[in-house]
Amino acid sequence: MKIKNIWTHVLSAKLSQPFAYSRAWYDTRMAGLVEIETDDGLVGWGECYGPAWMTTAVVNAMAPGLIGQDPLHTDRLWLETYARLRDHGQKGVTIEALSGIDIALWDIKGKHFGVPACQLMGGAQRTEVQAYATGLYRRKFGNPTDYLAEEAAGYVAEGFKAVKLKVGFGVEEDLAATRAVREAIGPDISLMVDANHAYDAVAATRLARQIEPCDIRWFEEPVPPEDLPGHLALKAATSIPLAGGECEFTRFGFRELLVSRALDILQPDTCAAGGLSECKKIADMATAFGVRYNPHVWGTGVALAASLQLLGALGPQTPPSLAPLEAMLEFDRTEHPIRQAILTTPIKPVDGIVQIPQGPGLGIEIDRNAFKRFAVA
Ligand code: CA
Repeated sequence: MKIKNIWTHVLSAKLSQPFAYSRAWYDTRMAGLVEIETDDGLVGWGECYGPAWMTTAVVNAMAPGLIGQDPLHTDRLWLETYARLRDHGQKGVTIEALSGIDIALWDIKGKHFGVPACQLMGGAQRTEVQAYATGLYRRKFGNPTDYLAEEAAGYVAEGFKAVKLKVGFGVEEDLAATRAVREAIGPDISLMVDANHAYDAVAATRLARQIEPCDIRWFEEPVPPEDLPGHLALKAATSIPLAGGECEFTRFGFRELLVSRALDILQPDTCAAGGLSECKKIADMATAFGVRYNPHVWGTGVALAASLQLLGALGPQTPPSLAPLEAMLEFDRTEHPIRQAILTTPIKPVDGIVQIPQGPGLGIEIDRNAFKRFAVA
């Protein structure tokens, strides 16, 4: 079997209402998808996290080096492609492009052998995962403490056992929002906060100390990803576990993070950090360092499916025991018109639980008709 064609798709959809995290407003959702076809007619799908115009351009530039190669040789193709661009792209868009390609190759590999991808990554460790609701962004209108509390209570009513609140809007406002959300969800639901690295260590420490009584499961991206000493200073000052890693890439990048012990929980994005091949390696490295691993997920149903296959193959986050801590699926609950529309069967949480698709490869079917609505010329 040989790789015959590699196509990219840039999709875009306008939102009905804009929403904001700590550093920007969103009014559009975009997606960069990779489609790989083999000479015996198999098609694999992948997704690149990051700016779709840039990631798909890099995928197209990588394609000539992959066409004619055996798509089952995922590790070799990953390393060859990485090595070809190593001098120019050890992180960022280059690795995001490689991630989309790698995921599409795993989709092909699973389809070739007729099993879900996780079956080929060490075997399925589970068939379902608990999802947490990512939402609780800021809106143009209304009082944040009111609408955030109401939104959080809605996730609990849907069956979610964990929710994540966006912070980074100023310590006082964050404190009020965190208290309001904790009050709304009650004591038994996990609450995480995410600053999207909008703070320095001084402000992050002030916030962390004040929200500690709200029983915070993790504080995500409190400070910029490059600021390892800032992470360490914060870590020494709070009992809240620190999470991050959606801006880090490959085994090489995560080696530095692990050695520094800056984070308690690694959150590589499967569509950014190097794809399924690389993220399984990073997860295994994390266990050797005694650091937890909980993937970052953001994107369409292809990204969700790839993350689910990885989660299916991961061991527990903590050492094996009768009650190990399992990784959760990050489930973005904000508006994304493309997310489920391109899947023939949507991936949906039921009572906060998501089933890992059991079909071959990523376990999903793509609805090409839906592309027409979102495709960017
Ligand atoms: Ca995040």
